[in-house]
Amino acid sequence: QTILLCAGGGCMASGAMDVKEALQDALKRNSLSIPVKETGCMGPCAAGPVIMIHPEKIVYERVSPEDADEIVTSHFIGKKLLSRLIHKNSGSREEAPEMDSIDFLKNQKKIVLRNCGRIDPGRIEDYYGEGGYTALAKVLTGMKPEDVVQAIKISGLRGRGGAGFPTWMKWEFTRKAEGDLKYALCNADEGDPGAFMDRSVLEGDPHSLIEGMAIAAYAIGAREGFVYVRAEYPLAVSRLHKALEQAREAGLLGENILNTGFSFDLSIRMGSGAFVCGEETALISSIEGHRGEPRPRPPFPAQKGLWQKPTLLNNVETYANVPAILMNGPEKYAAIGSDKSSGTKVFALAGAIETSGLVEVPIGTSLGELIYDIGGGIKNGKTFKAAQIGGPSGGCIPKEHLSVPLDYDSLAELGAIMGSGGLIVMDEDTCMVDVARFFLEFVQEESCGKCVPCRVGTKRMLEILNRICEGKGEEGDIERLIELGTMIKETSLCGLGQTAPNPVLSTIRHFRHEYEDHIRRKH
Ligand code: SF4
Repeated sequence: QTILLCAGGGCMASGAMDVKEALQDALKRNSLSIPVKETGCMGPCAAGPVIMIHPEKIVYERVSPEDADEIVTSHFIGKKLLSRLIHKNSGSREEAPEMDSIDFLKNQKKIVLRNCGRIDPGRIEDYYGEGGYTALAKVLTGMKPEDVVQAIKISGLRGRGGAGFPTWMKWEFTRKAEGDLKYALCNADEGDPGAFMDRSVLEGDPHSLIEGMAIAAYAIGAREGFVYVRAEYPLAVSRLHKALEQAREAGLLGENILNTGFSFDLSIRMGSGAFVCGEETALISSIEGHRGEPRPRPPFPAQKGLWQKPTLLNNVETYANVPAILMNGPEKYAAIGSDKSSGTKVFALAGAIETSGLVEVPIGTSLGELIYDIGGGIKNGKTFKAAQIGGPSGGCIPKEHLSVPLDYDSLAELGAIMGSGGLIVMDEDTCMVDVARFFLEFVQEESCGKCVPCRVGTKRMLEILNRICEGKGEEGDIERLIELGTMIKETSLCGLGQTAPNPVLSTIRHFRHEYEDHIRRKH
């Protein structure tokens, strides 16, 4: 038996290490030598600290150090389960459930998060135990680079960072680009408010990223790579750093990997929290040591990227899929999800939802299933109003579209985007004009200022929104917002500006009456 303790950022912040110490003391007092193993995120972050007793899969949420004695006694004394009592938020005590009976956990399909919450991210041996690095060995010893690209093509994997570009195409463009020196980069900048999917993978299963990047590097012919991770993620950075050292020691990074003649090494570059550095050309500029500003494209990074060399850039979630695809077969992966978008997607569920946290579901799962079957519905018995999906430059989906499948194309039809996976749920009390203002304020502040439509246009939009919210809206303001927003989308240099008006345009599209009410109230 083992006690698995979530040591992800959320649970650490709510006192997981104190719980660990208390559990170890209680075990010692009872002369029990049961290990307490630190793992990555188990998912229900708002209910931390979370522990799971393995192999019974009994889950305790909101554990405090004072619960340690009771948990140890009920599980391990006499080797039988006794009361399994837990303290709930309300102060009531209920039986700790089995993992498979918790809607939030049982209705998920985990590929990216396959090891999070199960293995100790600090031990490469744990990763080996789950088949880790067998995909890399298989690729290096039996596949040509073009075969690897073909496998990714068959899998149907699309980039999980936002736009959903077919991953194999990016790999193929970079593989075919002229040049001996090429780079593989990982975008771990994750700037969306409320998003923590990539952080959780880095904290809970960093070797899956390293293995995915090494496979990609082999496919495109790169010898060097960088993980661009935000400096505000110190736990993720330290776990990734440790995993890199372990991989090097094991001969899985560096010169002549597994004696196959292939060499590849990875370094970490830390970003300082500029949202625009999630844009690929700005990220590249930042790694080069310049100010993180986007560059016009073409040339695309596949031709001229980092230091003008052919460069592949994917995000953490995309790379973390790669070992699983090659280990289990691309056809198996392609069978999951919807016709045009295979596999799974990780979402960070937040807002007015009963159970918030990290979830992974097959692409094509409906918004309603995600909110009600997994998230447990809306908090405090309120009704669902809308969900903001795709981060600050995504769009909102109203309740009439609760059945929309969460895939790239269906969301685009509604004026939203999948984005990296931030999903904020709003209840009946939410003012959608305020929501639009909040997100526009964020992107306006984060605009790098290089091009006029984004720098000036978003500022003008924000001024209009501010006056509407302050009850000083004027006739024609809604049309002005639409005209400005459309112009900014069409003429901005980079993805930030091209998507910045989305929250305003999508709330006008679905909740125009709220804007009109605000303006009318003034007169
Ligand atoms: Fe900078 Fe905005 Fe222009 Fe992008 S669109 S280059 S963030 S000013």
